[in-house]
Amino acid sequence: MSKEKISQLESLRAKSKREADLFFSLCENGQNFVESKKLKDALDHSGLKPNDNRLQSLFKRLEAHGDKIVFEDFISIIRTSGLLVEKALRGQLALPDFIDFSKNIDKIFDEVKKIRSGELASYIPPLAEVDPDQFGIAIVTIDGQIYQRGDSQTDFSFQSMCKPFNYCFALEALGLEQVSKHVGKEPSGRQFDDLTLLARSASSNGFSRVPFNPMVNAGAIMTAGLIDPDDSFTQRLRHIRQQFGRLIGWTADESPSAEMPRFNKNMARQENFKGYNNIAMGYLLMATGSLPHTKTDLHRDIHPDEDEFDFYIEPAVTEALKLYFSICSLEMTATDVAMAAATLANSGVCPISQDRVLSQKTVRNCLPVLQSSGMYNASGTFFQQVGLPAKSGVGGGVLLIVPQLMGICIFSPRLDTQGNSVRGIEMSKRLTSKYLVHTFDGTMTDTDRLDPKLPIARWEANSCGEAIWAASNGNIRTLESLVSQQRDLQTGDYDIRTPLHLASAEGQLEVVKFLLDHDVKPIPDRWGGYPISDARNNNHKKIVDLFEKLDIKYTEPFHLVENPKGKSDKIAKFDDELMVIELLFAATKNNVDNIRHLVANGVPVNAGDYDLRTALHLAAAEGSLEAVEYLVTHGHPLNVRDRWGATPLDEAKREKRKSVVDFLNKYKS
Ligand code: GLU
Repeated sequence: MSKEKISQLESLRAKSKREADLFFSLCENGQNFVESKKLKDALDHSGLKPNDNRLQSLFKRLEAHGDKIVFEDFISIIRTSGLLVEKALRGQLALPDFIDFSKNIDKIFDEVKKIRSGELASYIPPLAEVDPDQFGIAIVTIDGQIYQRGDSQTDFSFQSMCKPFNYCFALEALGLEQVSKHVGKEPSGRQFDDLTLLARSASSNGFSRVPFNPMVNAGAIMTAGLIDPDDSFTQRLRHIRQQFGRLIGWTADESPSAEMPRFNKNMARQENFKGYNNIAMGYLLMATGSLPHTKTDLHRDIHPDEDEFDFYIEPAVTEALKLYFSICSLEMTATDVAMAAATLANSGVCPISQDRVLSQKTVRNCLPVLQSSGMYNASGTFFQQVGLPAKSGVGGGVLLIVPQLMGICIFSPRLDTQGNSVRGIEMSKRLTSKYLVHTFDGTMTDTDRLDPKLPIARWEANSCGEAIWAASNGNIRTLESLVSQQRDLQTGDYDIRTPLHLASAEGQLEVVKFLLDHDVKPIPDRWGGYPISDARNNNHKKIVDLFEKLDIKYTEPFHLVENPKGKSDKIAKFDDELMVIELLFAATKNNVDNIRHLVANGVPVNAGDYDLRTALHLAAAEGSLEAVEYLVTHGHPLNVRDRWGATPLDEAKREKRKSVVDFLNKYKS
């Protein structure tokens, strides 16, 4: 790159370091522009979709703009979406490593797809006739990242998944105190359509028996009855569909019909024909006095025939049932339902429209009931295993809420004996056995499972980086505090370098003693080198003596260094040492998105660790070609030398990474 260009770029950095870091994470070395495609790809990899409302003006600007975006334009373009794009580029969205997360879910999906047990709901034809093999999943985060797979775009019957929302709508209209007079919050321990009610000691308002909770049929009929009872059926249904429209991101200035969930009238009529139990329930609710009467006066009909009379059917009952059947018969895609669930996860604000659909209080009051009663009478077992508020429906849907993180919907119509989607349950279980999302995982230190809120490289960096830097710097205080947190001081990094290696290399005698006293064992690193070699190479005799006293057979390390006297290119220092370790882990894993995020956060591509290892050394040693390409084309010098004098090319050669060797040789010339 010409000197002039370098100084131009340097002056950009000086102008606004924060914005320049974003720009340089996408801008290749020697260029002074970002390709439009690179920005689009980065957004795609972050899980944001081009049809996201919040990105509409950005995509319009990109379309109007040429392929090459210079710094000033880049900044003004990304500003059209507030801080959203900046967060995406920095890896600060709810799921920072979206691609890695997606791959893991893909894998679980493929395994669960093989399961074919269970039966379709058969009580009405429209449910009995669906394709039993359908299987889809959608996940929407509170930042509006969207993962979808399989039949995630197929409309299916909402059924009982409407229940938590009915409860929310009733809570919004009447408040908790009033709603609680009509419906309880207790697990029923009975079938979802059981006719038993919760007996409550009579209070001044006279209600003594109410549905156990809003997630069983009695409760859901009741909450349906509480929503706008004085309006006509059409008005009420329209209002509810609009509310669902808002939950899934419809904003009032768009044409409503396209965004509102579809109403399957035939399904609702079939529910009505076969809904004997629900109809019985409606009357039971009226009989116990908990379903409010409508204000209509229909008692005036006297039939001209002497003994004949018009049979009175209480409109409050039929209206509540009609609305309940109709809400059950709304149809949405798994992606829509996941968006509605994400709105609950986001305390009532729809992630993509930023519309506050429900108050925080409403959501807070709904989720605990969902948690204890959402999965029919498998709710207790489900919560113990999966640990998330969830609701299933006989249409084959299961929705789950990971509060403050994401909403999930799985759709697969074969049901188990409890009425829950077999694949839905299995998928949910496997999700929590892969990820730390169980409500009570907070207290777990189970490292086999991943925290979806952290990129895997940061997770790995956290597990060893602090201890190794502390050992290298002689910081016993930090090591003591790690011991008291029961952290493992034996864990090695991407080169299996451990705190004991670094303490030995840096002559930190006290640290070596401390580690040995805490039962830390010397283990060989990537090159077969034990800490004793570090101590020897750096003339730390007392430490060598300590190791010689241990009864261990040490092997000698093999480092390939073609030009031991060669000078090293510049290796950068960066204050946040853990971010450097994360960068090197990301390079090891060939995770270019993760590397790009770190660069967007200001980490120099050529940052070095305690052994002067850089991301390029690691990417080369592991044969991570895409990472090598990114690093080199974003300004990583080739000739950096680690503690032993090895360059990235030496590393690639030693590990026989032919494609990397070829690339580096070509790039050099
Ligand atoms: N419409 C169904 C009923 O009331 C819903 C059943 C369900 O999804 O649990 O029986």
